[in-house]
Amino acid sequence: MMQGMAEPDVSGLLTVQQAIRIIDAAEVQPRVVRVPLDQAAGLRLAAPLLADRDYPPFDRSLMDGYAVRVADLSSDGATLRVVGEVAAGQWPQQRLQQGETVAIMTGAPVPEGADGVVPVEDVEKTEDTARILRNPGARRYVAARGSDCPAGKTVLAAGTMLGPAQIAVAASVGAAQVEAFARPKIAVLATGDELVPVGVEPGPSQIRNSNSPMLVALLRRMGCEVDDLGAAPDRPEALREAMLRGLEHDALFVSGGMSLGTYDYVPRLLAELGAELKLTKLRIKPGKPFIFARVPLAANPEHRCYVFGLPGNPVSAFVCTVRLASRLLARMAGGTPHERWLTGRMDVGLPANGPREFYQPAVRTTTPGISSAKGEFATIVPLGWKGSADVFTLAAANVLLVRGENEPPLPKGTVVRVLEV
Ligand code: AMP
Ligand code: MG
Repeated sequence: MMQGMAEPDVSGLLTVQQAIRIIDAAEVQPRVVRVPLDQAAGLRLAAPLLADRDYPPFDRSLMDGYAVRVADLSSDGATLRVVGEVAAGQWPQQRLQQGETVAIMTGAPVPEGADGVVPVEDVEKTEDTARILRNPGARRYVAARGSDCPAGKTVLAAGTMLGPAQIAVAASVGAAQVEAFARPKIAVLATGDELVPVGVEPGPSQIRNSNSPMLVALLRRMGCEVDDLGAAPDRPEALREAMLRGLEHDALFVSGGMSLGTYDYVPRLLAELGAELKLTKLRIKPGKPFIFARVPLAANPEHRCYVFGLPGNPVSAFVCTVRLASRLLARMAGGTPHERWLTGRMDVGLPANGPREFYQPAVRTTTPGISSAKGEFATIVPLGWKGSADVFTLAAANVLLVRGENEPPLPKGTVVRVLEV
């Protein structure tokens, strides 16, 4: 629909915020799995990880240099007897006595008796003595045992998302396997007689199924394990069969056939399958027909699958998934809903918005090296809205500009919030 055109009355429909409350209230039961650490990136911990010993586990040298007793050094240094060497991975052979030093490498344990390390740069070495040119002061260049983290302390709390740094922590404390929340298992089903798979040449009245590859990519990016069920034709029997397969997953995403057209069978089929419909239509643009339902599986009454019924138009399906469905998926994966809001200054003005909350594709540009907490140095350029089928414009966007219901005109220069996509 073009901007400025009269829109149908939507006052009876729920708002996006009301829909969010309903989605956030839906009960989920994340599954816990034990996985090898090399497969755990992107998952959330289901149990905390504790330090199995002190970190560092010994007083550790931070430099290549000489371990010394600081009391042996005057303010301008001293000449000490070199009595040995300790490399990383070795354990010191002797306790350091007065007037002695040992060569020490980065990562090596500091010998007993020593309380400082002098970097090689500050030492003149002779045959068996070391002339210390500068007094580093006590404990300098020594990481004390337990100073990073004492034994028994929680190093990663339950619920932590395992990224590269957290994986390093897990490896440090010996977690070869971790208890984590499993990736939600999601099925994606497109519907429509007009659809052909991407590898097939479409006939004159056909189009390629772009929603399935888009949703698979989007849901995988959100951390889900996704089964692509392809496209079902607009025939109740075939659709029913495909949907039954989808219902074996934690959630099923169906796109198309959601409205009131003659061949829009999805709402009727959901009703037949005993769905508990939680949402049907929303005051969102693009998107209006949006179904959120919980469906029992006849073969296994214990299992309940959540169904997201998305509009067929790709931009609508995208926006509804990013803005709404993502919240449930985050909780299914053991996390909490996460909204990636950014801000920026409008580069142009926009007319008043209509009665639905509007997610308009836009480009947010930042000037390298310039930043501000309020985001006023980022520029927001809304992209021309050609309607919810225009996936080409969506692909050029990096944010969605969110306009409130009946929002007044937006003057150029206004600082606005945008949703990162
Ligand atoms: P529907 O919601 O089924 O009425 O579809 C709305 C519009 O989206 C129609 O123009 C469909 O051809 C189009 N559409 C539906 N499903 C897909 C899909 N999987 N990929 C691309 N376009 C689609
Ligand atoms: Mg259709």
